[in-house]
This record gives sequence, C-alpha cells and structure tokens, in this order.
Amino acid sequence: MKYFDLHCDTATECFERHLELYRNNLQLSIERGLDFEEWVQVYAIWMNDNLRGEAAYKHFCKVYNYLILELQKNESLVRLCTSGREINEALEKGKRVALLAVEGSAALGGKLEHIEDLYNKGIRFMTLTWNGRSEVADGCMQESAGGLTDFGKAVVSEMNRLGMIIDVSHLAEKGFWDVVSHSDKPFIATHSNSKKICDHPRNLSDEAFKTIVERKGLVGMNFYPTFINGTTEASIKELLPHISHFLELGGENVIALGSDFDGATMPMDLPNIEKVECFYNELVKNYGKIISDKICFKNALNFTNILNN
Ligand SMILES: [Zn+2]
Repeated sequence: MKYFDLHCDTATECFERHLELYRNNLQLSIERGLDFEEWVQVYAIWMNDNLRGEAAYKHFCKVYNYLILELQKNESLVRLCTSGREINEALEKGKRVALLAVEGSAALGGKLEHIEDLYNKGIRFMTLTWNGRSEVADGCMQESAGGLTDFGKAVVSEMNRLGMIIDVSHLAEKGFWDVVSHSDKPFIATHSNSKKICDHPRNLSDEAFKTIVERKGLVGMNFYPTFINGTTEASIKELLPHISHFLELGGENVIALGSDFDGATMPMDLPNIEKVECFYNELVKNYGKIISDKICFKNALNFTNILNN
C-alpha cells in the first residue's frame, strides 16, 4: 500500500528518550515502514502547554536539531522535502518522504518573525494551538475558550503569505471559525475525527468538516481510541463509522490519515505502523480500492502540490 500520514509525535519521543528514528521501540520507526510501496510521513514537533515565550522557541529548536540529525543519518532512505515538486521527485526515485510540522504555534515564542525562520527551516505545517491557551488562540480543552488573538490573526496572515499550511486540530471551535474568516488559503485538520460519531472536543463538527471540504482542505483520521469511541480501547473497525460519515458529508477528496503514533495509545489491533496495512485492507473491504487509496495516500499527496518553494 501507499501511505501518507499527516501526524505523528515520533520526533518528540525520540528527542525526549534519546532514541533513533531508524530503529526504536516506539509506535513508528523508519525501519518498520520500509515495506510500504510509497510512504510520506509528516513529523510534528510538539509544544507542551507549559512552554511559552522564548523557552518555547528554544525547545522547538532543540527538538528540530535532533530530528534533522536523525533524518540526515537516514538520507539514503528518506528525503526531507519542502515542496510538492520535491515530494513527487523523491517518490519517483523510490525514496520515502519526510515533511516537517510544528504542533502548537507557541513555538513562535510570541514573535511573528519566527514564522519565516520556521519556514526557512523547512516547517510546512503548523497546528495553531495544542490543548491550552497560547499567544495565538485557545485550544479545545481550555475553559471558556476564545478565538484567535490579534497576534493569532497576524500569524494566520503570515502563514498564508509564506505558504505554511494552517492545521486546526486541537483548536477550540471559536478559533476554528476565526480561521475560516481570516485565512484565504486552504487549511487542514491533521488528526481529528467526527464529533457526530464520538462527541469529544478534539473532533470536528459536521459544519466544520463541511467547511474544510468547501475550502478543499484535508482531515486526517486519528487512531487514538478516545477520539474513536470515547474509551481507552478501540478496534480499527470502529474508525469506519467516522469515515463513512465524512464520506456522506462529501469528504471523498478530503479524508486522509493522521495516525497520532507516539502521541497517543493505539487500538489493540493497530498498535504500531506495521499494522497500518491491516487497516488499509479493512478499508478496501468496505469502500473499495479507489476510495481507500485516496484516504491512505492520494488526497494528501494532491493537497501537498500547493506547497511550493
Ligand atoms: Zn495532537
């Protein structure tokens, strides 16, 4: 199968536990993904909510430097890409692709000029918040959450200008609609499911999902049981109602995958990247090959063609 994953936290886990990207005991490693026919992996650098201001930016830089060294060690296998053209070239040469993201724009340390710095470092996706409040906006677990701050609106404009993709996963509802009003570029939710199927603040309402469809964005399906069925355990089959519902809302060209490997516990039958193929087979059984290939790879690949440098 061809696999495009919009979100994992493996970079942060490797950094914190001094592990290698190639071989480790985490949910995702390069070694265990080599059998995919084609593989594009977005590696997110996660910003915990206790990091703000300059400390947040410094932490970002530390994890970033670690990740770059790990990717350099694997450059014969994996190519770090920053544009649609580079992604296509790398895949044609039989390389796997790594893309870089930041989960939490607290990484900016409250400074607008850091966006260009992150962009120049190769970051192409940025989740505006994690769960709590930041200089930019409130996350979905923040009590009486507000929308984008004035700084947050400036961040959205600057990301639009540079061509850095806005990720609305984790953002509170008010912030979501502020992005809808302030962003003139397509935006995505890298790892969020359907609120209609599982009523959790991290999941997307039907209105939000339909807006992402209209804006020609992407929504990555998250494997975390809490967002699948609201409990601590799930099977991969239980993700299908989310997908069926999003398909009914017109999501055929928008649904993608955002595993959340190494950022969450996983379903018992999808404990790590090696089992993604079983999930794909389940999708093919239910939706046929054309739609399954779109969900697992093509939709995200088509979207990343808007990345240029
Ligand atoms: Zn997350």
